[in-house]
Amino acid sequence: MTKFVVTPANVAQRDAWAGGAIPEVERVRPGLWSVPVPIPVNPLRYVLVYVLELPDGVAIVDAGWNTDEAYDALVAGLAVAGYAITDVKGVLVTHIHPDHYGLAGRVREMSGAWIALHPADARLVRERYDDAAIDSLVERERELLRRCGVPALTLDELAGASMMIRHMVTMAKPDRLVEDGDELGLPGWDLRAVWTPGHSPGHLCFVSPGRRVLFSGDHVLAKITPMVAVHPQSGPNPLADYLGSLAAVRKLDVEEVLPAHEYRFLELAERVDSVMAHHDERLAEIERVVGSLDGAACWDLATRLTWSRPWETIPPFMRRAANNETLAHLAWLEARGRVRRVAGEPDLWFPA
Ligand SMILES: [Zn+2]
Ligand SMILES: [Zn+2]
Repeated sequence: MTKFVVTPANVAQRDAWAGGAIPEVERVRPGLWSVPVPIPVNPLRYVLVYVLELPDGVAIVDAGWNTDEAYDALVAGLAVAGYAITDVKGVLVTHIHPDHYGLAGRVREMSGAWIALHPADARLVRERYDDAAIDSLVERERELLRRCGVPALTLDELAGASMMIRHMVTMAKPDRLVEDGDELGLPGWDLRAVWTPGHSPGHLCFVSPGRRVLFSGDHVLAKITPMVAVHPQSGPNPLADYLGSLAAVRKLDVEEVLPAHEYRFLELAERVDSVMAHHDERLAEIERVVGSLDGAACWDLATRLTWSRPWETIPPFMRRAANNETLAHLAWLEARGRVRRVAGEPDLWFPA
């Protein structure tokens, strides 16, 4: 199958992305701006914050990572659009990952803006960002990795791998909980929330039927597919959630997708189809590898799959992600009766 390549909405933005640069602050269309906000030490490099003009200020979709550099870039981008940080009335957060949610608290502090989040992600805020609760989260991650057959020596390293970045996020409690289908009620905007769990349990996209645009967060991107993984804060079958959420946005009649990373593009339905095909291929590969072994742990299966580079060269944090992504595919196959899990130390996977 030849891979479908999306058409960029703005070639200059795509070229900046492809060239390893940060794109320009840009007026996407009347009343709507795109502001790239840098992310530290991350191959994604920036999050695209969208600025929606209102009669008395602006609302923003996502905020960026909580660093001074990111904050300054957001302030500078707002200035290009003719606004100050104090003009921000609301922050619509697609999901709680630090590159989207991290800066929301600081924006609220400066402007008095409300912060909106889906309840399923709001629930995770305390556990994820509160020092008192973090130990239990690390403990559950360790247990999950142990049952995947992660070698004891690397367990500690892997279980705590994301804790170092946690401190860069301020623990901001949301002011507004937004559910599937909710109208946001922003003056001049017919914006509606679409709940798209999978990448995160409370991931939200926002659609404007009138302007025919979809703010897709990390749910649908031009080139990469978002991480969908089993972890202590995911549901039991996040890949089923994710594929269901892809089907939900595929139906939307939009002409342009405004994602949080990379670049804006056209052809939502075709892109959704190719992401679905990617997961189909991955599921088939994993089912094949399970079938070739007589009972294997998730970690051992993960080491035998094709990744973008040789397993030995993948750093610990990404190996954990790879393991947890493999587990998400195994859980999906198990729910469909295509593989069988025998619980133990570790859990072993067999052909059905
Ligand atoms: Zn994310
Ligand atoms: Zn992201």
